[in-house]
Amino acid sequence: MFSVQAEAGTPSHMFETSDTDFESATSRSFRGSVREWFAVNLPAGWMTAAHQSPTDEAAEIEFLRNWQSRLHQAGWAGLAWPKDYGGRGASLIEQAIFIEERDRCKAPIEIAIIGTQMVGPMLIKHGSEAQKTRYLPRILSGEEVWCQGFSEPNAGSDLAALNTRAKEVDGVWQINGQKVWTSRAHAADLMLLLARTDTEAQPHRGITAFIVPMNSNGLSIRQLKQANGSREFSEVFFDNVIVPQEAMIGATHAGWKVAITTLSVERVATSRAFEMRRLVCDLVRNLREHDWDSAIDGALGDEILKQIFEAHAAGLTFQRYIAEMANSNTVGVESSITKLFTSELGQRITSTAMSSIPGVALKHRVAPWQGGELSWPLEFTNGLKNTIAAGTSQIQRNIIAERLLQLPRQRA
Ligand SMILES: Cc1cc2nc3c(=O)[nH]c(=O)nc-3n(C[C@H](O)[C@H](O)[C@H](O)COP(=O)(O)OP(=O)(O)OC[C@H]3O[C@@H](n4cnc5c(N)ncnc54)[C@H](O)[C@@H]3O)c2cc1C
Repeated sequence: MFSVQAEAGTPSHMFETSDTDFESATSRSFRGSVREWFAVNLPAGWMTAAHQSPTDEAAEIEFLRNWQSRLHQAGWAGLAWPKDYGGRGASLIEQAIFIEERDRCKAPIEIAIIGTQMVGPMLIKHGSEAQKTRYLPRILSGEEVWCQGFSEPNAGSDLAALNTRAKEVDGVWQINGQKVWTSRAHAADLMLLLARTDTEAQPHRGITAFIVPMNSNGLSIRQLKQANGSREFSEVFFDNVIVPQEAMIGATHAGWKVAITTLSVERVATSRAFEMRRLVCDLVRNLREHDWDSAIDGALGDEILKQIFEAHAAGLTFQRYIAEMANSNTVGVESSITKLFTSELGQRITSTAMSSIPGVALKHRVAPWQGGELSWPLEFTNGLKNTIAAGTSQIQRNIIAERLLQLPRQRA
């Protein structure tokens, strides 16, 4: 099942490791130090009623920037990056252990995650030395937060259809167009932008990648308000935005390689396999606080039992996949399998919670900003996003069908 063809463009250093055993003495010791660090450093009262959650969006961003700085000082930011670029040079197994421990205690997610998990590894592979020197240290420290300017109103699953234009005028690049669903654009300092630089070529051959400061003249941001109140993503408009030649990543019209590197790492980085164990434990704990005996009676009990097994299986499958990736140095179709399975499982667990925990919708706050308290309505609405972000479930099914099951390729 795991011997599959690699996706082109994966940065191989991300997957170099000699240790493929999650239970080895080295892994256990690493897990111990991560667990201890979180126990000591999580904000006071984290995930209990005693925790003082940020009260608005600005406070949330400040809280997350502070958290990023603590991760950096402790050497946990850029875990996978080579030591030469300021990272920890951690093995793939260690990276997975870190995510497992982070999700076990529902620690805050890095605000600089697009930088540390996607832009950094991409720049190490495709960036110039000047770009690496200028941008990498500030990604790690959290001084500069990045956002990802890929999706457009008519280019999401079909990313190569993107239409934002970059034109070379008098030695600089002039950008016009629109991006959408740009996570944390309002909190970001820089954007990794994909723009069309050749309208005559085949769609994926006419794209170039750029670094765009978010305070550029002509760039405007309109935050989108979601049903749960969150305004985490935005529309971003470019009206004659100018960037210099040095802002281009790689060669002109070679942006598709940058996109592939970024997207293949994204699917692994955003895996929620370990989060499922925590979710299902929270579900059982909350039901136990009420009428556990009637909860486990009949169809609901069967469903919860199934979800417990599925959550455990998701974690084990992800571990197995990581071990396989560590051996093969490639990202394969397994990233689509775990992404598809865990994002859909998350929806089943949160739906069960919403329908079975008495009074859940009334008692739990739906603070859109990330706080250290459990909110099932928020988990439920977040779950809805997870089958869309980083490639929809349908797209993951297409990938599995074509690359793993070798079914005939879908025709437009
Ligand atoms: C939480 C979240 C965060 C995001 N953050 C970012 C970000 O920071 N930067 C960024 O650039 N983008 C971001 N996105 C956008 C995301 O990448 C897109 O939403 C996603 O790729 C789907 O594109 P779309 O929304 O245009 O839907 P479409 O591509 O229009 O798809 C609409 C529907 O058609 C289905 N469909 C489309 N093509 C096929 C096909 N070939 N076969 C079968 N079904 C198909 C889809 O599965 C979907 O159900 C984010 C999205 C979410 C939900």
